[in-house]
Amino acid sequence: MKIHGDKYRSELVTSYSHAWDRTRCIEGAWTSPRYGTPGYNLLLQPAGRVYFAGDWLSHEVAWQHGAFVAARSAVSALHQRVMAG
Ligand SMILES: Cc1cc2nc3c(=O)[nH]c(=O)nc-3n(C[C@H](O)[C@H](O)[C@H](O)COP(=O)(O)OP(=O)(O)OC[C@H]3O[C@@H](n4cnc5c(N)ncnc54)[C@H](O)[C@@H]3O)c2cc1C
Repeated sequence: MKIHGDKYRSELVTSYSHAWDRTRCIEGAWTSPRYGTPGYNLLLQPAGRVYFAGDWLSHEVAWQHGAFVAARSAVSALHQRVMAG
């Protein structure tokens, strides 16, 4: 009420909130291995046929731009692997 005032009662239809820090296997929001560390660099490498991507694996955590950059990186690596035969 302090933020939205009377509009909260008259205009809000529904709302939802979620405690990510209490969600199993997530347990936090916008967390990431620290950019440039050995652990981070390891995750940039595929584990066999598995490639990792996501905003968390970029220098722009919590932004779609980071997700696009990571996705493009993974797809490019896959493409190079396939083309190399
Ligand atoms: C409230 C909120 C507001 C935001 N606002 C903005 C904004 O204004 N601008 C902006 O640029 N970014 C914003 N973001 C961030 C943006 O949404 C994320 O950076 C982006 O969606 C990350 O994309 P992603 O592909 O890395 O991950 P996600 O979009 O999280 O995709 C991961 C997918 O993997 C699926 N998945 C997980 N585990 C498994 C499994 N074991 N098997 C199969 N599938 C699995 C998930 O269900 C999900 O669909 C916002 C995020 C939130 C939460």
